[in-house]
Amino acid sequence: MSITPESLAWLRQQLKEQYGADSDAVWNGLHQKRITSLRVNTLKTTLDAIIRELNQNGLTPEPVGFFDQALTLPHSSEKTLRELDIYKNGCIYLQSLSSMIPPLLLDPQPGEDILDMCAAPGGKTSEIVQLTNNKAMITACEPDRIRCDRLRSNLKRLGCERVNVMNKDSRKLDSFLKFDRILLDAPCSGSGTLDLSESKKIHFSQKLVMNSARLQGELLKKACEMLKPGGRLVYSTCSLLRQENDAQTAAALRGGKMRAVSIDMKLLEDIPALKTSLPGTVTVLPSERFEGFYISIFEKVG
Ligand code: SAM
Repeated sequence: MSITPESLAWLRQQLKEQYGADSDAVWNGLHQKRITSLRVNTLKTTLDAIIRELNQNGLTPEPVGFFDQALTLPHSSEKTLRELDIYKNGCIYLQSLSSMIPPLLLDPQPGEDILDMCAAPGGKTSEIVQLTNNKAMITACEPDRIRCDRLRSNLKRLGCERVNVMNKDSRKLDSFLKFDRILLDAPCSGSGTLDLSESKKIHFSQKLVMNSARLQGELLKKACEMLKPGGRLVYSTCSLLRQENDAQTAAALRGGKMRAVSIDMKLLEDIPALKTSLPGTVTVLPSERFEGFYISIFEKVG
């Protein structure tokens, strides 16, 4: 699949309209190759043990400011890491830095009922399990059967416990179910993760943005219904477009049942952020280190 010249021009125009003077930086960021990053799976090992193991294999990991369980490897490929025993036995998980942010902001606690609405392949589900040290009750939903099998096998390899995997469209979950925290890492156009230096491999169109936005609205509505009063909802996408991001957040805030929680940028120190149209939400600027990414947080009133 390759992106058409019309879709590429439309994306450029949207970015110009939405980010003004910053749109050149966004465009440049989408032309950069992302460096390799990983999360140390502290359910199975320690940061020191993984650094030692990587060094013994001639690799030079670097620390990550906002998350002490993450490492980058600017000079190594994911292929190299997949060949290591620490990958095969689930001591590390290959994950982009941006994708590690939503579970941190969800702030999951042991003993809580937590829903991951769009879970496969399981990067964020397993991070939530790790942050709660296997002590939260997690429901992970994924409608695609093949992706769901991948989710199950990743969770097993990583030693994740107490996760109820459901091969289901989360819009069809029973609304009697109530959760303390919900992560909605929504299906999206992926506009923040495009590698425009390889336009032949890109799947992106205006129609994809419109269809994603419709689905995101429906998923967000369902998430609001299933959240306990006082509960926290984190909404995220790997898109840079307002239609999928602030517009969805604003729609979920209408009606007065949800209130916005401002993201504390001190927690995200060293992460380059773009200006958003809604204060308190975060859009990560795409770069060599980070994918373009969007996050907003809600709490249910009551
Ligand atoms: N959270 C995942 C992770 O960190 O590994 C990535 C999720 S990916 C951005 C979005 C996922 O949502 C895809 O696996 C897709 O199949 C799934 N999805 C699509 N429609 C859905 C729906 N109606 N309900 C739940 N999940 C859905």
